[in-house]
Amino acid sequence: MIGKPLVVLGSVNADHILQVKELPRPGETVTGHGYRVVPGGKGANQAVAAVRLGARTAFIACVGEDDFGRRMKDAFQAKGMDTRGIMVEEGMPTGMAMIFVAENGENCIGISPEANACLTPERLAPHLGLIRGASALLMQMETPMETVIMAAEEAKKAGVPVALNPAPARSLPEELLKNLAIITPNETEAAALTGIAIQDAASAMEAAACLHGMGVATVIITLGAKGAFVSAKGRGAVVPGFHVTPVDTTAAGDTFNGALMAALQRGDQLPEAIAFSHAAAALSVMRMGAQTSIPTRKEAEDFLR
Ligand code: ATP
Repeated sequence: MIGKPLVVLGSVNADHILQVKELPRPGETVTGHGYRVVPGGKGANQAVAAVRLGARTAFIACVGEDDFGRRMKDAFQAKGMDTRGIMVEEGMPTGMAMIFVAENGENCIGISPEANACLTPERLAPHLGLIRGASALLMQMETPMETVIMAAEEAKKAGVPVALNPAPARSLPEELLKNLAIITPNETEAAALTGIAIQDAASAMEAAACLHGMGVATVIITLGAKGAFVSAKGRGAVVPGFHVTPVDTTAAGDTFNGALMAALQRGDQLPEAIAFSHAAAALSVMRMGAQTSIPTRKEAEDFLR
């Protein structure tokens, strides 16, 4: 791999999806259809997005000692990722999510971390060299918090910018926030981090100011179809996304994050990087699926023209 890679550290899941007419109520059994198992996990989705959208990418993750885990590792390598940081956990299954999708588009998800929980600071230790030599580090919150804290600290010490997509929503310790260069919460996550409900540009600005106060220089609050509130260098504004007809918004945020890091790796300034990320994410919502919906760099660039 020529040039420093973006290092993505995060989860790999097998998503077990069942389509149902209505979501089951407590105690109820429903018969569904269209059962399928597809690749997921925020870490994997964002690493796949980064590589498809043109970033040199290395992925640090733990998969299980099962067919799915082994197939995923091979698939990441076939996509051109550096997979030396992917560990196969003896006797463990790969992380999994059980997803019910109702006819009205509502869903209900249960996650079991399985091998993702094995990504402890001890397991990360042999891969710290990869992080120190990265162009940037991108993480989410589906792997153990102590490992995310350790990775961010090592990266910051080595002068490597750290981006965090703080999903799923939760509050975060100061020792992590102080080492972040970029944070990309959605509205729910921004509210969980700051206690401020995001209703409009003014409340997004207030939440962004709060996150800047915690030490993060660049705050990007994604707003779904409305685009994103982007705040950096003392200026904050809503940057609208693209108006498209959504088919399936799964992994829109993951595509946005992978695209952002790919654009920044190429040297784009923030406004261009946001435009590219909006284009990539808009294309992803026009297609079904998570990783299968992520466009290529060429598709995103053609869409922008
Ligand atoms: P998810 O959990 O579904 O991956 P998220 O909640 O993390 O997504 P969102 O804020 O919903 O993230 O969306 C991220 C980006 O995706 C938006 O900033 C925008 O660029 C794009 N996007 C999402 N929904 C739409 C839509 N309906 N139309 C166009 N673009 C969209």
